[in-house]
Amino acid sequence: MKYPVYERFYTWQGEGVHLGRAAYFIRLYGCPQKCFWCDSAGTWHPEFRPPQVGLYSAQELAEFVRQESPEGAIVVLTGGEPILFDLKELTDALHVLGRKVHLETSGIAPLRGDLDWVTLSPKPFGMPPLREIVELTDEVKIIVHDPSDLDAGLQVLSGLPEEAMIWLHPEWSRAREKDMTVLNLITHAVKQNPRLRAGYQMHKAYRADDLDPHSDKRQIPLGGNPELGV
Ligand code: SF4
Repeated sequence: MKYPVYERFYTWQGEGVHLGRAAYFIRLYGCPQKCFWCDSAGTWHPEFRPPQVGLYSAQELAEFVRQESPEGAIVVLTGGEPILFDLKELTDALHVLGRKVHLETSGIAPLRGDLDWVTLSPKPFGMPPLREIVELTDEVKIIVHDPSDLDAGLQVLSGLPEEAMIWLHPEWSRAREKDMTVLNLITHAVKQNPRLRAGYQMHKAYRADDLDPHSDKRQIPLGGNPELGV
């Protein structure tokens, strides 16, 4: 099996429970969710997708990880929507290296592969997550672009394990512009419900991903413009 890889890069995890940990990201190509604030629009948007995408076997990707990051760095499979692919060969190859493998997904298909950590980011205006994915989730990341996104995100979490953490992230254009409606909404929500946590995409403040020669430097977040969703 060959995996379509939009980009790969060694950086650190900028979000969630594993914030700050050295991490090798493999961003797979393709996503049907079409979020109008997508910050990885090159993985699916017709105006931004690259002319060609590299296809690599699990062994080839594991070799990239081995050569380009030290032992102890976690591997994050993201996208696009990585859950659309059979990840078993890839997770097996990465486990042979001794790496912990994390997944970032919107949970819209059955999971094929052995993951050490699952981050679910539901997209309430797109396809909702399958309950079987919600049930094996370690942490949730709800992106808040509009106030209604908070309740919409919480409503699709039936079956979430009690110990799973729920992060509320201001969508990046809202965070960058210090949109106090969204930021205050998150603050109030966390103060009312201590199970929730206030989050931030720290790697974007550092621009840490840009330092790797393999990362896409085009910076093409859609930025919350509904006209850019298709
Ligand atoms: S934000 Fe994620 S789920 Fe939404 S379109 Fe972009 S890659 Fe797909």
